[in-house]
Amino acid sequence: MSAVGADYRLDGIYKQRQDGYFMQRVKLPAGVISADQARTVAAVSTRFGQGTIHLTTRGSIEIHWLKEEDLPRIKRELATTGLTSRGACGGAVRGITSGSQGAQGFPLLENLARRLHRHFTGNPRFERLPKKFKIGIEADEAGGRHLIQDVGLVLAGNEDGCAVFDIWIAGGLGREPYPGFLFLERVPEERIIPLIEAIVRVYAAHAPPPKRLKFLATEFGEAKLRELIEAEPSYSEKLPAVSGLPEHLVVMTDGHQRLELPVFAGTLTSEQLVAIADCADSHADGMLIVTANQDIALLFTPAADAAAELQRLQHTIGMESESPAITFRICPGSHECRMGLAATRDVAGELVEHITVAGQKLSWALSGCANSCSQPQLADVGIIASRLTADAEGQKTPRFDLYRRQDSGLGHKVQEGLTTVELIETLRHIE
Ligand code: SF4
Repeated sequence: MSAVGADYRLDGIYKQRQDGYFMQRVKLPAGVISADQARTVAAVSTRFGQGTIHLTTRGSIEIHWLKEEDLPRIKRELATTGLTSRGACGGAVRGITSGSQGAQGFPLLENLARRLHRHFTGNPRFERLPKKFKIGIEADEAGGRHLIQDVGLVLAGNEDGCAVFDIWIAGGLGREPYPGFLFLERVPEERIIPLIEAIVRVYAAHAPPPKRLKFLATEFGEAKLRELIEAEPSYSEKLPAVSGLPEHLVVMTDGHQRLELPVFAGTLTSEQLVAIADCADSHADGMLIVTANQDIALLFTPAADAAAELQRLQHTIGMESESPAITFRICPGSHECRMGLAATRDVAGELVEHITVAGQKLSWALSGCANSCSQPQLADVGIIASRLTADAEGQKTPRFDLYRRQDSGLGHKVQEGLTTVELIETLRHIE
């Protein structure tokens, strides 16, 4: 492997903040991973990294502290259990995400996520895009996650035995948050792949790097963007209905019980992941789900005493739920990320001590920079480290902007430039 300066992003690899270390992101369609696959991720982390694993808000898994010379071997190891990282970073169609993993129709969503994953992953027609291209599939509009995707699919029902989806496009967060707009309603599943192809083609043809699709929506206007997509040959194409057995891995019957294992900041050790995988093998059909809140959900079988098994697991891995577990999405920040302005896990650890009892019922998110990887504009309370400021001794410390989400759209900035002390004082009053 060529050494210095190689760009591994299309293989799902970023350089870490620490010189000589890399992060490998693994794509999981709709956040679903088998117990065997989880053990493979854990083994890779133990052998080639430092035994730490990070769960992302898009239902992917990241392995940190990897060395460049080990990257080809790691790719092979992951592939032995069918895991891929292709397109997990860089200008490609990223992992297909879902925040609806507990919803009734989830197996149907997972099916479609797997089809889209298979179609777009590693397909040279949809790589080397101007920037990332994100697709999300949701059971409803409740969480607002459809608003932050390049293509957000929302299940809208069933017509003639075929699932139909509302399609929202051109959303995104980052420095210039833009809520996606409703592009088409009640589109049958057979049109979804060619339609997304049309959208990606328009994006690749018109957006300058490193702009997202939302740039075209603001630059051209939504009407013109719509026209361009409609002019693509695959816009009206309808593929034959998919036949054969379903592809989803998650089993959901009335007797299955979905419980979540809260994972602070989405950070696990490889030993903990192995123990969770073993529990899934024994009691949850051998499947784990990485949730959009960076936790792990298990669908316990009807035969399992779900609450007791979860409690046993939490005790075994030293993750007894703190009372109460607060929904708090946290990106790696300056702990590992080169863009990070704040040590997010440390800051969040301090903040949770001061959240009021009423505030504990809200959802929280903290991002180490304006890229907003923890989706702060979709939390009831969002915090973004927006800049560094030198104090009297010349020491640089982060300043934070505060966002509140009050309706079904994206959250809005309500305060800016707060020090950590000011932030703590502010959140003492959030209810
Ligand atoms: S929000 Fe910024 S600091 Fe956090 S993971 Fe994303 S790029 Fe890194």
